[in-house]
Amino acid sequence: MIEVYPHIFVGPMSDCRTNSAINTVHLPKIPCHQNAVGYTGNLDKNHPNYLWKESSSDIFFNTVDCDGPGYWRIEIFRKFLDWTIPRYNQGKRILIHCNAAQSRSPAFVMFLDAWLNKKTWEQAYADMMPRYPEYNRYAVSYKLMGVSIFLRDHWKELLDYNPNEQSA
Ligand SMILES: [Zn+2]
Repeated sequence: MIEVYPHIFVGPMSDCRTNSAINTVHLPKIPCHQNAVGYTGNLDKNHPNYLWKESSSDIFFNTVDCDGPGYWRIEIFRKFLDWTIPRYNQGKRILIHCNAAQSRSPAFVMFLDAWLNKKTWEQAYADMMPRYPEYNRYAVSYKLMGVSIFLRDHWKELLDYNPNEQSA
């Protein structure tokens, strides 16, 4: 795993752990969310853990890679802030991992840094690229930018969001 910003790490599947040494945001539906909730195939949309399941040290989101933004829901990013910001503010290290660490997890890392420092999309992107160039290389090569497009289109709304820190 790579520390992209102080106390904010990005990693692929091989960095998946569940322990209290580092607070981890698991983005893969397969296998992280499936294993945490306990299902195969697809989960009923009405299941209480359809979008995420959390513990004190880990949160498992039900996300997959996709090239369009339509799949993404703003609740995921609000919950991401609810869960991550209080832990970050307590000095915890935050690992955000997905399958390949080339699309979803770096997008979330970029967004977290931007929320903390109230950066514009352009500032956040310009700061992220030299620190983690794989993000852009992958997005351009494979067009898997649904998460990035969604974030860009909801940037102001999400940067203005005040996390609900009750769950920390
Ligand atoms: Zn995981």
